[in-house]
Amino acid sequence: MKGVWFRKCLRLHDNAALAHAAAAAEADGELVVPFFVLDPHFDRSRVGINRFQFLLESLKCLDTRLRSEHRSRLLVFRGAPEAVLQRLFEGDGRFKLGSLFWERDTEPYARERDARVEALAKQAGVHTAHFSGHTLLDIDSVVAAQGFKPPISMSGVQAMVAAAGPVKEPLPVPRLPPLPADGLEVPDISELYADAPTSRCFPGGERHALARLRAVCADAGYVCGFEKPKTASTGRPGKPWEPSTTGLSPYLKFGCLSPRTAWHEVARCQRGRAHSKPPQSLHGQLLFREMFYVLGACVPNFDKQDGNRMCKEIPWGENPEMLTAWAEGRTGYPFIDALMRQLRETGWMHHLGRHAVACFLTRGDLWQSWTVGRDHFDKMLLDADWAVNNGNWLWLAGVAPFSAPYFRIYDPCPGERSSLNAEQTGEFVRHFVPELKDMPARYIYKPWTAPAAVQKSAGCVIGRDYPAPIVDHKAAREANLARFKAALEGSKSGHMPEKFGAAERDPGPMQ
Ligand code: FAD
Repeated sequence: MKGVWFRKCLRLHDNAALAHAAAAAEADGELVVPFFVLDPHFDRSRVGINRFQFLLESLKCLDTRLRSEHRSRLLVFRGAPEAVLQRLFEGDGRFKLGSLFWERDTEPYARERDARVEALAKQAGVHTAHFSGHTLLDIDSVVAAQGFKPPISMSGVQAMVAAAGPVKEPLPVPRLPPLPADGLEVPDISELYADAPTSRCFPGGERHALARLRAVCADAGYVCGFEKPKTASTGRPGKPWEPSTTGLSPYLKFGCLSPRTAWHEVARCQRGRAHSKPPQSLHGQLLFREMFYVLGACVPNFDKQDGNRMCKEIPWGENPEMLTAWAEGRTGYPFIDALMRQLRETGWMHHLGRHAVACFLTRGDLWQSWTVGRDHFDKMLLDADWAVNNGNWLWLAGVAPFSAPYFRIYDPCPGERSSLNAEQTGEFVRHFVPELKDMPARYIYKPWTAPAAVQKSAGCVIGRDYPAPIVDHKAAREANLARFKAALEGSKSGHMPEKFGAAERDPGPMQ
C-alpha cells in the first residue's frame, strides 16, 4: 500500500506527494491510503478553537472530494505520529504501508517529527518519498545552493526566485484508485473543544480556497491595481469583518491552496495589462512569504532573541497585566482593542492592523517582547505560520535587518492621513468594541477626549464602561525610543543596559 500522509498541503491540486503515490500505485496495482494524523502536540494550549475548526473543515473537504471524485477517502488517525506510523509500517490488521509519501515541511517541529518517522520507516524497510509544495521554491535546495545568501530585502528575494527559473506550473489532480474502508472519520470540533468556534469569515478547505482565489482573480482590476499599503486595515464598508486584501492566508497556511497555483492565477490576470509590482503587488506578498520561509530555514534560532543573528538584543520588559490587556482588547485604545478582538473572534486581522498592534505591544507603547506577541498570534491566527509569523514580528519589533527604522512608531489613534489606513466613520470599532457603539465618530479613536456629557449620552463613561488608555502614548513613545536607542548604543559598545524596572517601564495611565 502507498500511504499519503497529509499534514499541510490539504488539497488535491498541485499535490506532488499524492500525484507520485497515485502513479506508483497504478504501476504496482496497489491501493493509495490518504491519511491525516491528529497529533496531540497541537492541542488547546497551542491552537485556538477557530483554527482547529478551520483544520477540521479542511479535512472534511478533502474527505468529501476524495469520496465523491475518486471513491477514496481520508482516514484520520489519532495519536503521536511516530506511534501511528509505526503501527502502519508493521500493519494494523487493515493497513500495512510499503511506502509513504508526504510534502516537506520546514518548521522545526515538523523537521524533528519527520526525521523520527524517517528513521522508523528505514527500520521497517518502508520506502519514503517527500516533495516540496508549500512554497514557490524548494526551500532546502535554495538554502543548500552554492553562493546562497539569506535574502533580507524584496530585491534579494526577487533575485533568488528569478535565479531558480520560472515558478513551476501546478500539477493537475491525479486519478486515484478506490479505497473501501470504514471508520477513522474526521471528528467534530465538539469532541475536542468544550466551547464553540466564533469565526464565520473563513470556511476551511480546498473548495473554499479555490473559490476565493477565483473570486479574487475574476476582478482583474483588483489584482492589477493591488497595492498592499493602500488597502484598508478596517475591512470593507458595511462589512468591517471582511478583508480588503485577498483573505487567502489561512488557505495558504494549511496548504488548501498551492502558492504556485495562486502565483500563476495572478500572473494570468496581469498578462497584457498594466499592473502593480513587488513589493506592493500580490506577487510581492507571495515573495515576502518566500523570504520568511527561506530565513526560517537558514537562520538558527529564528524564533528567539538569543542566538538569532537576525535579531538585535533589546531588554524588553515583562508586564503580564499589560500583555493580557493587549491580548483581550482592553488597552483603552479603541483601534488596538478592535483589532485584538477581531483576532479573537475571527482568527484574522489585516496586515496593517498587525503592524499597529505589534508596534503597540513592543517598541511603540507597552515595551513587551515580540516573542510574547508572536505566541499569542501563533495561537489565535487562522493563518499562524511559524516562519511568516516570526519574520513579521522581528520586522515590527524593529530588531531585524529588514525592519523599518525603530523610531517610526505608529500612532494607535489613526487619523485620516495615517499610513494605517483606518476608516474614519467608526464602523470597524463599533462592530468589534460594542461598548463604543454610540460614541460619535469624531471621538471614536480617542473616546477619553469626549466631554463627560458626550460619554454619558453614548452610554460609555471612560474608566467605567470602557478602560482609560493603558499608557499615555506620547510619554510611552518617548520613553521607549530612548530605551531602544540606549540598547543599540550599549550593544555597539558591548554594554547592554539592565532590564528596566516596573516603575520605569510604565509611563503611567493617561487621565
Ligand atoms: P494578501 O495581502 O492578500 O497577500 C496574499 C498572501 O501573501 C497572503 O495570504 C500571505 O500568504 C502572503 N503574505 C502577505 N503579506 C505577507 C507578509 N508580510 N509576510 C509573508 N507573507 C505575506 N501571515 C501569515 O500568513 N501567517 C502569520 O502567522 C502571519 N503573522 C504576521 C505577524 C505580524 C506581526 C505581521 C505584521 C504580519 C503577519 N503576517 C502573517 C503577514 C500578513 O499580515 C498576512 O499574511 C496577511 O495579512 C494575510 O492576509 P491576506 O491573505 O489577505 O494577504
